[in-house]
Formats: sequence, C-alpha cells, structure tokens
Amino acid sequence: MARNRILITGAAGFLGSHLCDRFIKEDYHVIGMDNLITGDLRNIEHLFKLENFEFYNHDVSKFVYVPGELNYILHFASPASPIDYLKIPIQTLKVGSLGTHNLLGLARSKNARMLIASTSEVYGDPNVNPQPEEYWGNVNPVGPRGVYDEAKRFQEAITMAYHTFHGLETRIVRIFNTYGPRMRLNDGRVLPAFIGQALRGESLTMFGDGSQTRSFCYVDDLIEGIYRLLHSDYEQPMNIGNPDEITIRQFGEEIIKLTGTDQQLISLPLPTDDPKQRRPDITKAKSILGWEPKVSRSDGLKITYEYFKSLPEKEILHKDFTYYNKN
Ligand code: UDP
Repeated sequence: MARNRILITGAAGFLGSHLCDRFIKEDYHVIGMDNLITGDLRNIEHLFKLENFEFYNHDVSKFVYVPGELNYILHFASPASPIDYLKIPIQTLKVGSLGTHNLLGLARSKNARMLIASTSEVYGDPNVNPQPEEYWGNVNPVGPRGVYDEAKRFQEAITMAYHTFHGLETRIVRIFNTYGPRMRLNDGRVLPAFIGQALRGESLTMFGDGSQTRSFCYVDDLIEGIYRLLHSDYEQPMNIGNPDEITIRQFGEEIIKLTGTDQQLISLPLPTDDPKQRRPDITKAKSILGWEPKVSRSDGLKITYEYFKSLPEKEILHKDFTYYNKN
C-alpha cells in the first residue's frame, strides 16, 4: 500500500522536527519545509538519509508548490518566542496569515486534511483561568505580542472559513507552553533562558516578581495530542497542554535545584503585555481524544537539561540572541 504523504512546515524547528520524527515512525512519506530563519537543519539531519523523507528550503509566505499527492498538511512554521516577534515581526505576521492562506489553497488543490498550529496566545492576557476553548481572549493587537497573537487569530479564522465555505477538512490545535530537546537555547523563552544561565554560572533573570504563571507540557505529550487530533473528526479548536500550573518564581527555583547552580534569581522588568496566568482547560482533549499529559515536569526537565548540557560549549556560551543560520 502506498504511504500516506504529509507536508510539515516549520520542519526544522522545535515542534516541526519532533512531528517529522513521529510521522516517519508511523511510516508516512514526510515532506519537510522550512526557510531556516529560526529553524535548524541539525534537528532533522538524521532524516535526510531516509527514502521516505524530503526537504524543501522554502518560505511558505510565498506561493507553495509540492509535486505529487498530499494527504495531510501540518502548518507549524512560525517564530514562536516573544524575542522572535520583536526581531522579526513582519515575517511572524506573514507566515501566520499569507503562509496559512497559501497552504489552505494547497490543501484544497490536493484534497488534503490541514492541521494548523494555533496557540494559547489567542487568549492573550486571560481574564479566566484555566482557559477553555470557548474563551475569546484578551489580546492587545498593537502590543509587541500582537504580531503573533493576531496572525494566529487570523489563521484560525481563515482556516475555519475554508472549512465552512470550501468544505476543507481542517483541525486547529491551540498549543500551550511546551518544552523539550531541540528548543533553541537562545530563543529568550524562560526555560532555555534559565538553563542557559545556570550552565554559564549567571543569575537567573526572572521577569517581574515571578508571580505570573505558566503550565509547561513536555514535547512528547504534545506530539501525541496533535497526532490524535489530526486523526479525530473534531473540527473546532482544541487545547493541548499540561494543566500543571506553576509561578515563574517556583519554576526558577526548580531549575536552580535541577542544575545545582549556586546562582540566584534576579528580578528584571516585566515585558509589556506579559500574560499573568496561563493554564489549559483540557476537558475536551480528555473526553474527545482520550488524551492527557503523562510526563511529569521533573522527568521532562531532567531530559531537557541533559539535552542542553550536551550542546557544544561554544553554543552554550554564545548567549546573545542570534539565529543559528546567521551565526
Ligand atoms: N520569563 C522570565 N525570564 C526570562 C524569560 C521569560 O521570567 O528570562 C518569564 C516571562 O516574563 C513569562 C514567562 O517567563 O512570564 C514565560 O515566558 P516565555 O517567553 O517562555 O513564554 P510566554 O509564555 O510568555 O510566551
């Protein structure tokens, strides 16, 4: 029987590369696509020798052409950290809007099922906690996060419009904070920031008083949830994340303990529009997909710490924000 063919955009990124691995494992023919602005080919270089893996270096904000049949499209290309939004705001807007439009057109022409990576950022700085899918959010369109949040909200809207107007099969996953091997050490997000600082013997930079909360999901759990959502018949947005909520101060203390650093937390100003609380309501994922996270934070953090420790020293010491392909 011919293999199912799947296009994964953002294939060289953190989540995209784990998705490539998963679908290769399930014996799909995987076509990875990435323009390598924030992605890193090292995340997928082990796949290049496989006959059921192909890679295109392409920016999906421009017209996308893929020869042959496609059964599924997963759109995971996007900058995804607050520092990225500040550095490349226009690309962030374009990949979520123009990129999504191009891929929806491709999905239509191939009669493929399309799953888009949305985000808890559609809830903005939420006034309800935990956030159920029905919550409409509290987003500042013109703040520093607006370029990401609004691109993702537009992405959901256009995806739903292709579903209702063209009858396209679509799936929308709202991803909450996720961590694990292959995160960029210098992407500015709290987990790589704290672990990088601990490895370099620097103070851990806690923003604000650290009372803001997040809920961290280990990458393997997230990928399993996405896999199940893709193959379900559920067409409304679905939260996938770990509801184990923690303050950033407590999280910093956990990293200090894990790494054994003799450094402390220091407080820096809180960035504009930093959400005060975030925790997914996963009632739907549990009842519809039979999914819930399995990896505890202590286990997931250990694996992730080992990964960061194993990186070349030069990379650990190179703390300033840069994209790998511009180094
Ligand atoms: N944060 C922090 N120190 C850092 C980086 C981030 O205290 O060096 C905080 C940030 O202000 C936010 C939380 O950690 O409240 C998570 O930030 P991240 O950028 O990882 O993701 P977000 O959930 O805000 O998109």
